[in-house]
Amino acid sequence: MKTDVLVVGAGGGGYPGAFRLSQAGMEVLMVDPKGELGGNCLYSGCIPSKTVRELAQLHWRNKRLLGSQDNLDFGKIQERKDAVQLTRFVQHREELEAHKGVSFVKGEAKFLDNHRAMVQGQEVEFRYAIVATGSTPSRPHFPGAELCLTSDDLYSYRTTFRNLPQEMLIIGGGYVALETATFFNALGSKVHVLVRSDRVLRGVDPDLGALLIRLLDSNIDIRYNSPILEVSKLGERYEVWFSSSGKKDRLVVDAVVAATGRTPVVPEGLQKVVEVSPKGYIEVSDSMRTSSPNIFATGDVNGLAPYFHAAVRMSVAAANNVMSGNIDSDRVDVRGIPVTVFTIPPASYVGLTRSQLRAMNVSFVEASYQLGDDSMAQMYDERGGEVRLFFEKSSLRFLGAWVVGVHSGFLINELTQAAVNGLTARQMSNVAEQHPTTNEAIAYAVRKLV
Ligand SMILES: Cc1cc2nc3c(=O)[nH]c(=O)nc-3n(C[C@H](O)[C@H](O)[C@H](O)COP(=O)(O)OP(=O)(O)OC[C@H]3O[C@@H](n4cnc5c(N)ncnc54)[C@H](O)[C@@H]3O)c2cc1C
Repeated sequence: MKTDVLVVGAGGGGYPGAFRLSQAGMEVLMVDPKGELGGNCLYSGCIPSKTVRELAQLHWRNKRLLGSQDNLDFGKIQERKDAVQLTRFVQHREELEAHKGVSFVKGEAKFLDNHRAMVQGQEVEFRYAIVATGSTPSRPHFPGAELCLTSDDLYSYRTTFRNLPQEMLIIGGGYVALETATFFNALGSKVHVLVRSDRVLRGVDPDLGALLIRLLDSNIDIRYNSPILEVSKLGERYEVWFSSSGKKDRLVVDAVVAATGRTPVVPEGLQKVVEVSPKGYIEVSDSMRTSSPNIFATGDVNGLAPYFHAAVRMSVAAANNVMSGNIDSDRVDVRGIPVTVFTIPPASYVGLTRSQLRAMNVSFVEASYQLGDDSMAQMYDERGGEVRLFFEKSSLRFLGAWVVGVHSGFLINELTQAAVNGLTARQMSNVAEQHPTTNEAIAYAVRKLV
C-alpha cells in the first residue's frame, strides 16, 4: 500500500495535521490502536481530568458560598466525565467522516525504514510521516509501586475508579500531582502530596510556583524531601513508608496515586531511523523535522511542550512543512505557547517571566494587579492571586506574564496574543476589557505603565 503521508497516532499531534493535509489534497493514512481520535488528552488526560475539576469546583463553591450540605456522589461525577468523553469521540468521528482524504486504521505502526512501515500486517510505503505517539505514565521504582494508581486509572474513559477515597496520597510534584490533589481535596478527600525534592513544579518560574502553593487550600498536606520507600496493602487500605528529614515515617490511606512524570512512546523500529535523546524523546528542529527530513515528530513524543494545544500547533506546523517539501515554511516558538496548571485555584504563564529575564540579563519592568480588587474574584470570594506582566524596559514591548487565581486559564489566551504579536504596553492599553470579567485586571495592570 502507498500513501503520501503516514500519521502515526491520532491525538492532538496527529489528527489536526492529517486533516490539513487532506484539505490540501494529499492522501493520508492515520493509525492509532485506540480506534478513536483524541489521543490520551481525550481518553485519559485533559478532558476527563478537567471535567472532574469543574465539577469538584462546583461542589466546593456550592458548599462554601451557598452552604450546601449535599452528599457528593462521586460515581455521578465519573458518569458525567464519561459522557463528555463520549460526546467528543462522536464529534471526532464526524470530523473524520468529513475529511475523505484521511483513511483511519485501528492498529499500531512499526517502522521498517524512513519510507516504509508495517500497519496491521501490511507494508505501507510513505513519502512523509508525522509521528505523534505521545507519552505514557512513568512507573516509579520502589517496592509496591505496582499498587499505585496512575492518572490513567483515575481519568480513563469508563474507568473502574468510582469510589471517592476518604484519604489519598499522591506521589509527585508536577502539575498532574498538584491538580489531582486540589480536585480531590475539593471533593472532600483528605489529600497528602509527597514530593521527593524541596520544590514542586520544576520548570515553572519559582516565584510563580511559590505564589501558587501559598494559595492552595491549607488542608492539602504537602510534604517536601519525602521520597517513598515502600507501599504495601494493609487490609483494604495502603501503608506507605517514606523518608522524612532522614527518618522513616508512614501514612495509611485508601488510595495511592503515582504522578511521577511521563515517558515518551517511540514506535517500534523508529529508533533506527531518527535520532532520539538520552531521555527517549524524538529530536526535532523548530519545524518539527527529525534527523530523517521526511519524518516529523509532534506533541509529547518530542518533549518540547507536553500540552494538547502545543501538540496541535506542532501538528499543523508539520503539515505545513510537509506541503512545502524541503523548505521549512512554519516554525514553532514554544515560548509563545501558554501553560495553565489547572489547580484550584489555577496558575498560568506565557512568554518570558521574572527568573528567565533575570537569567538572560534583560532590562525589564513589571506591572501587576491583585485579584483581591477584581469584581469577578470577589463574586466567587476567591480573592487570592494576581496578574503580573513583564515588559522590555526601553520599548515597553510585552515579553510575558503570569496569572494566578480565578479564570487564569482564560486570561492567558489574551496575553498569549499580545506576547506572540509583540504588542507594546500602549497597544495593550487601547482595549476596553469586558466588564465584569477578570480580564479587566490586565487593563488595570497595563495602565500603571502608560
Ligand atoms: C492527567 C492529565 C491531564 C492533562 N491535562 C492537560 C490539560 O489540561 N491541558 C493540556 O494542554 N494538556 C494536558 N495534558 C497533556 C496532554 O494530554 C498531552 O500533551 C497531549 O495528549 C499530547 O498529545 P499527543 O498527540 O502528543 O499524544 P497523545 O494524546 O498521547 O496521543 C498519542 C496517540 O498515539 C497512539 N500510539 C502510540 N503508539 C502508537 C503506534 N505505534 N502506532 C500508532 N499509534 C500509536 C496512542 O494510542 C495515542 O492515542 C494532560 C495529561 C494528563 C496525563
